[in-house]
Amino acid sequence: MCQNESMYTSPNLYNPSKTQEMRERCSHCDTKYKIEPSFFYGSMYVSYGVGVGIAMIAFLLGYFIFELSRWNIFLIIAFISIFSLPIVIRLSRNIWINIFMDYDKEKDHKRQ
Ligand SMILES: [Zn+2]
Repeated sequence: MCQNESMYTSPNLYNPSKTQEMRERCSHCDTKYKIEPSFFYGSMYVSYGVGVGIAMIAFLLGYFIFELSRWNIFLIIAFISIFSLPIVIRLSRNIWINIFMDYDKEKDHKRQ
């Protein structure tokens, strides 16, 4: 892939019906994003890891730096989880596809 464009049809993260809507192919290099029909199901494992990572950081900051109560930390983590969900979904898809595809200089005509 050439990384010249977004895989997603909508740049708006907070439009729930569009968050997961993706282009079929890259308009620059014709890379097919969905390698197989259920390819992006695997990205759920990545999003789980990313989500846990974010919650851990929020907990450590809240507990040791801001010295909040556990209940407040819980509320903050719940809040962060909901609002970062679209970001986490897309981020994990980007990570997931990069595990299977490498950035291809040959396909990146723009930067040559
Ligand atoms: Zn491309």
